[in-house]
Amino acid sequence: MKKLIFLGPPGAGKGTQAQILSSSYHIPHISTGDILRKAVKEQTPLGQKAQSYMDQGELVPDHLILDLIKERLSQPDTEKGWILDGFPRNVSQASFLQTLLKDLDSAADYVLNLEVPDEVLVARLLGRKRKDDNEDTIRRRLEIYHKDTVPVISFYSDRHMLKAINGNTSMEKVTASLKAIIDE
Ligand code: AMP
Repeated sequence: MKKLIFLGPPGAGKGTQAQILSSSYHIPHISTGDILRKAVKEQTPLGQKAQSYMDQGELVPDHLILDLIKERLSQPDTEKGWILDGFPRNVSQASFLQTLLKDLDSAADYVLNLEVPDEVLVARLLGRKRKDDNEDTIRRRLEIYHKDTVPVISFYSDRHMLKAINGNTSMEKVTASLKAIIDE
């Protein structure tokens, strides 16, 4: 059983690593960013509400995210495991998730924190060419990360669930470090 939560700043490589591990372990990769981008593209009611926040690099309000994650983690394909990428983004999402998992008789096995210095992130994000990857929104996303998401690291380290990984190295090395932890 592999239930993994990926933490780390924007541009740390969470999405790439989550995709790799999702195919090696045959477990769903659940990215709230991907779900939201699809909703925006399809202009669903969720997408219409989320779009302006995403374009500005702000977090989409919790009430829009929590139902979505509850619904997703209740799907039958999550029984064998999952990788959460981009959720939780703040402490209130993290405590919602603890309660939700308890209600589902489940729990995360590892919280994996990919560590990459800010200056490396800006360079990586500027090279990525996503719609919300211009210099102002990148700066804003990093600010929000430090303000709202860094406290989530303490939330999990206080609960002895956190594993830190150096994300400032090659993709292959990061995958190997993650697998070494998960398979131990
Ligand atoms: P990501 O692909 O994870 O970088 O997410 C892209 C954007 O989607 C973020 O900048 C937020 O606007 C929004 N988003 C993704 N996940 C969350 C979340 N858990 N809570 C709030 N907003 C989110």
